[in-house]
Amino acid sequence: MAEKRDYYQVLGVDKNADAATIKKAYYKLAKQYHPDANPGDKVAEEKFKEANEAYEVLSDADKRAKYDQFGHAAFDPSMGGGNPFGGGFGGEGFADFGDLGDLFGGIFGSAFGGGRRTRNGPVRGDDIGLNLTVTFEEAAFGVKKDISYNRVCHCAECGGSGAAKGTSAETCSVCHGTGQIKRVQRMGGMAFQSTTACDACRGTGKIIKEPCQKCRGSGFVRETKKLTVSIPAGIANGERIALRGQGNEGKNGGGAGDLIILVSVRPHAIFQRENYDIFCDVPVTVTEATLGAEIDIPTLEGTPVKYTIPEGTQPGTRFSIRGKGIPMMGSSSRRGDLYFTVAIEIPKGLSKKQKEAMETFAKSCGESNYTKKKQFFQKIFKK
Ligand SMILES: [Zn+2]
Ligand SMILES: [Zn+2]
Repeated sequence: MAEKRDYYQVLGVDKNADAATIKKAYYKLAKQYHPDANPGDKVAEEKFKEANEAYEVLSDADKRAKYDQFGHAAFDPSMGGGNPFGGGFGGEGFADFGDLGDLFGGIFGSAFGGGRRTRNGPVRGDDIGLNLTVTFEEAAFGVKKDISYNRVCHCAECGGSGAAKGTSAETCSVCHGTGQIKRVQRMGGMAFQSTTACDACRGTGKIIKEPCQKCRGSGFVRETKKLTVSIPAGIANGERIALRGQGNEGKNGGGAGDLIILVSVRPHAIFQRENYDIFCDVPVTVTEATLGAEIDIPTLEGTPVKYTIPEGTQPGTRFSIRGKGIPMMGSSSRRGDLYFTVAIEIPKGLSKKQKEAMETFAKSCGESNYTKKKQFFQKIFKK
């Protein structure tokens, strides 16, 4: 199959289009490409399906929020049920074609009439996933971050009922509020009972005569929520923070979902992290390594600490400074260690005079000054 087009593009509307604009755009396309008007036209059929799919998502505040955040992946079963974090989006996947009934009358009848689920039971709101990137130091010492995200919440105008102010939803007289219709069919002397969603109330058990203008009768609106999140000291790349009840609000008394923050930690310019320890290479001059020296070691705090390397320090020697690593999560005082490896820098671009001085120095050295070199050849020639 060809790559999926962007739903907004399919309907030819702006990303910020309001519900009425989306509905209008869809209505136009649906009329243009409806199979009844284009018998046998495969292209029209595809366009019709594409528009339906786009409208199914964009007409539902809940699904639209998910789509805005994760794109097509939000509804692709191969992507782990639409949640990049693997599970959690337990939404019921309702196709909200309810208001089209009035608009299209008979045209759509059978296309959307069947298979609706009952939806008058409590449904927990979906979790919302959010990526948050912090610096290496912020992850080490903790940080407060202001975040802003979109979520679906109960409409304040109607208190979530979907009915216009001053009115209320009525119990459906067809299903008596259950949202279900039981049918019994007799075949060959046996009775088969089936339960389907009530068509009159679309399975909600309620009839809204005068829908709330703000939420189009859905009882839900999208809001941009701002929060300050505390990232605890010691958090590692890829860890998650769950903020209970900050996800989408639920339906019919179901609780709100969670906001799941996936923390990405930026790499540090010199430090690598392993659990709570940090590692780096420190360049040291030949003279410092040879004679021993007090050298500066960088720290996460930014102020270097002094460390004395001994005379004759070899390249690749690793030293540790206790308690200068990452603070341990959940502990106020314990920290990992800092490990640094000596990287001896060989001087380049020497002047003639410097080279002569090196030569003079080299001539003064004997086998006893270079034990490794001596042992190396002893191994080969087995003296
Ligand atoms: Zn409302
Ligand atoms: Zn009903």
